[in-house]
Amino acid sequence: MGQPVLKNQGISEPTSQLPSATGDVSVPLLRVLRPEEMDDAAANLPEKIPHSEGSGSSPSVVAAAQAAPTAEFLEQLAEESQRLESATPQEILQWAVQRYAPKFSMATAFGPEGMCIIHMLSEFAPETPIFNLETGYQFEETLELREQVKRRYGIEVEYKRPETSVEEYERMHGGPLYNSNPNQCCMDRKIKVLQRAAQGLDAWASAIRRDQSPDRGKAPIVGWDKKFGLVKVSPLANWKKQDVWAFISKHQVPYNPLHDRGYPSVGCWPCTRSVLAGEDERAGRWSGFAKTECGLHSSD
Ligand code: SF4
Repeated sequence: MGQPVLKNQGISEPTSQLPSATGDVSVPLLRVLRPEEMDDAAANLPEKIPHSEGSGSSPSVVAAAQAAPTAEFLEQLAEESQRLESATPQEILQWAVQRYAPKFSMATAFGPEGMCIIHMLSEFAPETPIFNLETGYQFEETLELREQVKRRYGIEVEYKRPETSVEEYERMHGGPLYNSNPNQCCMDRKIKVLQRAAQGLDAWASAIRRDQSPDRGKAPIVGWDKKFGLVKVSPLANWKKQDVWAFISKHQVPYNPLHDRGYPSVGCWPCTRSVLAGEDERAGRWSGFAKTECGLHSSD
């Protein structure tokens, strides 16, 4: 299958003051270790997630979400995050892989940002487990993109599914909840699924950009995600939309064809509409509701 043609994405070169997408900014402290150096380095790292209570390995979803790190650990994370502010996304991902693999994972809805991260990981850590929260309400185009990722990168993105099928769920509630109670629907079909997926992990990568919303604007490069009891790494936090599309164009990264049909942000089909010229890029998500996030990336 040929590569999709980029249209109407406001493509431009990455802004010069931002970390380069090509990884050519030198950050000496973040050198990738050779395999024979890994054991020594691991011995010198602080414990990955020292919890003041709870082990994070409890089978209880609630226990995993409640696990609290020590103040010292949070301080270390904040320092690392500050240091990584000037690193490229590739360097941030390499840092995360060195520090947390094999308990480092990535969740993706196959958005343009997530596709950039998949491309980057395919180059230096293709074994990184990547999963998709398959709510049962995703667009066919999104599901097809998973197949494209398999063909292009040899990476099989794992579906993580809710406990009930769409049919069972709608039967239980007398119809779909996305119209009447989307918060509950997202809780059941996304948040709880990620909470289960988080068990056994130490860290996860998200593809959020700070300029997407005021809440996302507060995201550190590396921080503690109390909702899921994991370290959250956001390698694209400093990127702008044009950086994402410049990277996609340069590397011919596959992307969801819906972006060329007026859907800058794609989620589940019942909660996504195309946007009009001049509208915010996330205006098509949960249109008509006060809701702006599914809850995976909100700080509350
Ligand atoms: S985005 Fe819509 S359909 Fe998808 S889980 Fe949330 S409320 Fe349900």
